[in-house]
Amino acid sequence: MFPYDGHVTSSILGTSLDAVFTITDSGVIVDANPAATRMFGWSREELLGANISIIVPTPLKEKHDGFLRAFSPDRGVKHVLGSGDRLDGQRKDGSCFPVEVGISSFVHEGKRYFTGFVRDMSERQQAEDRMRFLATHDSDSELLNYRGWAASCGVPESGLARVVVFRLEEFRHFSLLYGEAWSITVLREVASRLQAFLRPGETAGRVREDTFAVLLPENVAARTATLAQALAKPFAQGSMHFSLTATIGISDGTGDVDRLLRAAQWACDRAGNGKGQINEFTEPLYQVSRREYQIETRLQRALADDAMSLVLQPKVRLADRRIAGAEALVRWSDSELGPVAPSEFIPIAERLGLIGRITDWMLRRSLEEISRCADPSISVAVNFSALDFYQPQLVQHIDSALRQARADPRRLVVELTESVVANDVRLVGERMRQIKALGAAISLDDFGTGYSSLGYLRQLPIDSLKIDISFVRDLPDNADAVAIANAIVSMAMALGLDTIAEGIESEGQADLLSALGVDQCQGFLFSRPLRPADFHRLVRAQREGFPMAATPPLAAAPMSI
Ligand code: C2E
Ligand code: MG
Ligand code: MG
Repeated sequence: MFPYDGHVTSSILGTSLDAVFTITDSGVIVDANPAATRMFGWSREELLGANISIIVPTPLKEKHDGFLRAFSPDRGVKHVLGSGDRLDGQRKDGSCFPVEVGISSFVHEGKRYFTGFVRDMSERQQAEDRMRFLATHDSDSELLNYRGWAASCGVPESGLARVVVFRLEEFRHFSLLYGEAWSITVLREVASRLQAFLRPGETAGRVREDTFAVLLPENVAARTATLAQALAKPFAQGSMHFSLTATIGISDGTGDVDRLLRAAQWACDRAGNGKGQINEFTEPLYQVSRREYQIETRLQRALADDAMSLVLQPKVRLADRRIAGAEALVRWSDSELGPVAPSEFIPIAERLGLIGRITDWMLRRSLEEISRCADPSISVAVNFSALDFYQPQLVQHIDSALRQARADPRRLVVELTESVVANDVRLVGERMRQIKALGAAISLDDFGTGYSSLGYLRQLPIDSLKIDISFVRDLPDNADAVAIANAIVSMAMALGLDTIAEGIESEGQADLLSALGVDQCQGFLFSRPLRPADFHRLVRAQREGFPMAATPPLAAAPMSI
């Protein structure tokens, strides 16, 4: 019979979720509540009379005994252990688990006892561990996430790090199609292939939804090829087998890993060698894309700020060297980037879906200028992009611009490149007929550079062909160039089309083209593109009888336009 009546304590603490032990000053258990038996797996009978060290893991037993010896009653009855400290408890089966312990002491009939309140912290510990894991890992693949990967990548001793990223091209699309379970299976499979691939010193992580990164200290070419092979194997989902295209980007350098990751991702995104291939980052290519990016951002601004301008380049009739028309060309000089050539920003505007605004603006401005022109026989050619031709409202837009400018539709030439036609002859032909019905003319620009069949020329209501500058450049001395120019002009004549040659810079070119039967020429020989005021002055001078090549505004025209 114990001198201390443990049953009193038991009845009070019987419902406690914490385990409660009462022990003597020599560590003998004199009471244990039901939670204590549940938590540690010993029966009450086994616990009573045993030493408390029965629930303490071996390495801690000594510390615990030391504590009992060192306890000073002067400090009073209060929590002395476990105030935030985590300890381990040990179950009967030997397994350990995290606990938090509070200990009180009291004296009963002259003897000191200790009561320990033991809380099982397993669940909390697991939740905390999971949170810590998720801060640096991706929950689906269980690979390191971007933060974890970047933090784990030490720059190798050589100082040179190589980062390889790969993007699974169809991943996003298939995830949407087949759902989350599909994605998780694929991600786990990718993770397991990566784990099998990795060697000491190499670190892998999932850095974006569909993109993974690997730091490779050496042998990058061989290791990347091995990685590509590992990813090329088909994936299985139930009975379904499918392959995913992995596009790989590589960068190396001495910079920080984050910068290298961005460079490798850039190489992967840009995929100069194509999707499913290995693409290496190179500085010159990167500079091109930086410039494109700058143009993209500035271009949006330029359109909002109305920062574009228009220039007019005369088209001269070869028969009498008089101005028959003008081509309207867009100009943009940005406050930060300086002048940006249309050949640089027009493709970007097309990609960003901004080309329609440029075309519309150029069309309205061109019609305004042509209505002001002193010679009513002069027309203006406006460049249209392929994308414009797929706008359902195209013809209405042209009609409304003509009406707004009160311009004679016969003074408008819609210029479009040969490549437009190649895409969808039926639709383009239909649009052309509608434009012709308004009264405007159609000219096919850069003729000879497209890869389309010549058969369409007969099907489409085209008025003129513009012979591309590349066929003019080597005239008049190169025999092949002469033969090609001759063939184009003969074909145009046979089809009843006018011909215009662009990029004429020498009298020799002009003479030869004239002899071949070309109707009009456009080029620096006659005039650079001019500001509208200069163009109007030139037209007025011509009306007053100056020959084209000797007109004063031409000599004064700034070279930069
Ligand atoms: P394009 O329509 O074939 O325009 C002719 C280009 O040749 C113009 O370049 C013109 O300045 C240039 N050029 C004219 N004469 C000569 C010459 O004697 N020698 C040389 N080397 N070049 C000459 P620009 O203005 O830089 O325009 C380039 C291209 O950008 C244009 O080729 C056209 O495809 C496009 N573009 C220009 N303005 C517009 C526009 O308002 N809208 C659209 N969609 N595209 C435009
Ligand atoms: Mg043109
Ligand atoms: Mg052209």
